[in-house]
Amino acid sequence: MNKRTFLKFFALTTGSLALASSTEHGASASHHSAPNTQELQEMANKMFAEVISQNDYYVNHQGSAFFEKLKNSQHPRATIIGCSDSRFQSDALDKTAENDLFIIRNIGNQFSSNMGSVEYGIRHLNTPLLIIVGHSRCGAIKAALSDYSAEGPHIIQELDSLSLAVRKTSLSGTEEAKWLSAVISNVHQQAYYAQKEFKADVESGKLTIVGVVYDLANDFNNGYGRLKIVNINGETNPEKIMQFPLMKSLFKPVHV
Ligand SMILES: [Zn+2]
Repeated sequence: MNKRTFLKFFALTTGSLALASSTEHGASASHHSAPNTQELQEMANKMFAEVISQNDYYVNHQGSAFFEKLKNSQHPRATIIGCSDSRFQSDALDKTAENDLFIIRNIGNQFSSNMGSVEYGIRHLNTPLLIIVGHSRCGAIKAALSDYSAEGPHIIQELDSLSLAVRKTSLSGTEEAKWLSAVISNVHQQAYYAQKEFKADVESGKLTIVGVVYDLANDFNNGYGRLKIVNINGETNPEKIMQFPLMKSLFKPVHV
């Protein structure tokens, strides 16, 4: 079997595996106990087979012309700082994100953890838009609000920085309301850090910094998965936010 035939065979085999594992994954989602080593190994095997199979599908679906256009340079239009949470993916912002979104992700969508990468997107790739995307039900924010002293040093470092951001505002109401307020507060804080760093670019109009919350839980009652715009260039007042050209362009009258 030559390499090409083997890969084709491999892709076909993994295709059926992928189908089986997605059903199993759905069924196993209801129990929460930590998986044992054997279960983890099985999960790794199935997941890796899915990755290879889905990459194969992607490659065939896109075709070589797609990659020919990409191979020499990138020209993204927005730098994104998002949370690593697997429930948030770029599809929620851009269906064809390739060559469009320069994405930096970490727990709690922090600017301070990856300043160099953000700067690269803005200063070298000249993206005119920086979007900081927080999300409802963010585990990192919840952890930052609680006692995380038993975590390892690296996680503590990340949470300390988040904790500074979310403890700045006084939180009130139910636990869920506090959690959501802390998510928003963190977006404001990260936007503030970015604002400080790229002040000149924002003032000259080269860069707009937007803070949004991706509401995967419909916590704002605007619908599941909607983006709530909470901050533009440091402005947090909803009425004043509406005055930004960025917002006005969203509501241009439609001529039928
Ligand atoms: Zn998160």
